[in-house]
Amino acid sequence: MNKPIRTRFAPSPTGFLHIGGARTALFNYYFSKHVGGEFHLRIEDTDKARSTPEATQAILDGLAWLGVQHEGDIVYQSKNADTHVNVAQDLLDKGLAYRCPLDGNELDEARDACREAGHAFRSPYRDKTHANGAIRFRVPDGQTIIYDHIAGEVTWENDQFDDLVLLRADGTPTYMLAVVVDDHNMGITHVVRGDDHLINAGRQQQLYDALGWDIPDWAHVPLIHGPDGKKLSKRHGALGVEAYRDMGYLPGGLRNYLVKLGWSHGDDELFFTDKDIADVFSLDGINSSPARLDFDKMDFINGQHMARES
Ligand code: GLU
Repeated sequence: MNKPIRTRFAPSPTGFLHIGGARTALFNYYFSKHVGGEFHLRIEDTDKARSTPEATQAILDGLAWLGVQHEGDIVYQSKNADTHVNVAQDLLDKGLAYRCPLDGNELDEARDACREAGHAFRSPYRDKTHANGAIRFRVPDGQTIIYDHIAGEVTWENDQFDDLVLLRADGTPTYMLAVVVDDHNMGITHVVRGDDHLINAGRQQQLYDALGWDIPDWAHVPLIHGPDGKKLSKRHGALGVEAYRDMGYLPGGLRNYLVKLGWSHGDDELFFTDKDIADVFSLDGINSSPARLDFDKMDFINGQHMARES
């Protein structure tokens, strides 16, 4: 039997829910609706220095206003730390990871030596057994090939990937490990997120393989650019969704606009209700080049939603 389709939105609570994050959440939400799957929410709060309860609340408030409902309980990544540690230990026991005690200058020197030799970081402790230090993943030889719904087939030479840290010397898990373990344990079948994470998919797929776990479908969405084609900044409108609420946009109008921003369907109508989107949304309809914010279009779409609601 096929596994039930599950998507997730996994924000790090370090600020408000900006429109790029909101669009990622919407793509996951509508895709799961389209296929009769489930959309889940995970708060990636492992970076204690940067994560704040206020930012978590701002994200939850932003999603609630936007009308994006998740299924089940919210998963707080920091609560899963013991599970992450166990998986790192398991990889260590199987010889798929190793302890590396290097830090500071010694680590810098070892890194420089690898760079001069033309490959990514490989610790001199790779083939030794050491009792303490960080647990690093032993990147396999060869290539990593991922199949992405938007970017297509992407290939990397594995000697370009560092032997990445899974568990820091202080025993805390890293993002790369936590994401893989949580996605697996949450039964996530489709990872849809910004294409700033594309290279992470290569690293994460190596971990899935090492752990013998099913690899999720990948879909890395090009980021939103400003009207001038440059990276989105606050000046361009990279604001929290509540700023759009305060400017008078309707949640339905913003949902429609954000989904249309970077996703096309058929003859490219602009106005979509939630049902229209859920009926036809597909990952393969997401454009492979960055979308540009267009306030005229946003106003036009929002105006149509206002007219329908009045
Ligand atoms: N927490 C990451 C971020 O906010 C997303 C991780 C993921 O979607 O895999 O950028």
